Amino acid sequence: MADSPRLAVRDIRKTFGSHEVLRGISLEARDGDVISILGASGSGKSTFLRCINLLEIPDAGEIRLDGEEIRMVRSGGRNRPAIQKQVDRLRSELGMVFQSFNLWSHMTVLQNVIEGPVHVLKRPRGECIEEAQALLKKVGIADKADAYPAFLSGGQQQRAAIARALAMKPKVMLFDEPTSALDPELVGEVLRVMRALAEEGVTMLVVTHEMGFARNVSNRVAFMRDGLIESIGSPQEMFGDGASPAFRQFIGHFQA
Ligand code: ADP
Ligand code: MG
Repeated sequence: MADSPRLAVRDIRKTFGSHEVLRGISLEARDGDVISILGASGSGKSTFLRCINLLEIPDAGEIRLDGEEIRMVRSGGRNRPAIQKQVDRLRSELGMVFQSFNLWSHMTVLQNVIEGPVHVLKRPRGECIEEAQALLKKVGIADKADAYPAFLSGGQQQRAAIARALAMKPKVMLFDEPTSALDPELVGEVLRVMRALAEEGVTMLVVTHEMGFARNVSNRVAFMRDGLIESIGSPQEMFGDGASPAFRQFIGHFQA
């Protein structure tokens, strides 16, 4: 088991109408892997993450979490999950952080963080509160536990969202452009938290345009183009002389 990937996706395909958005994506994340997923807008990055946690149902392909395959059935020419309970469990085992924070606005930060552990995992509330306080401390917003999201800066909200995802003790964290909606001066505080998680060995897939993070924090970099992984490698390979021409051209846009 120690050797099998935490997350393995194979040949994921997704079509919206007549637009084939994912054309066969395969990727494995081993324990502690931090994989940055780069690519132009519209290349399918969000759809790929959404397919992994079944916010979108892939038309074809396999998803395995810790070796367990998500069972699909064909009906009306499309796939659908065979077992809803398995989907619910998969979702609870994947932490998702979105560009737009997505905190529940009618709950305090602490209530946001304990909601999943208390109501989905049915764990004792007192224990969840203690863990939540430790997580808020870890992301640097212990003093905001009783505040409502609207009173937090974007960077603080995103750190709360990260704490909320971590509270479920996910097997893999999925980040979809977690810093893209932030004012530039708030990007660093979120990236620092993500770097600390990476250093702790949290397995992460990170869709990002932060080249510094891709280069210095992740151990693998995947470049998506037109619904495919055009190239993948270590940061040394991807940012070195051997990079594909398409990836070079892509990162060229980020170099002033
Ligand atoms: P990225 O995150 O790389 O910018 P997306 O995965 O969001 O790319 O989108 C890839 C393509 O799929 C885009 O052309 C987008 O318009 C299309 N798309 C995404 N979601 C849907 C949807 N629910 N219905 C129809 N088209 C969609
Ligand atoms: Mg996107």
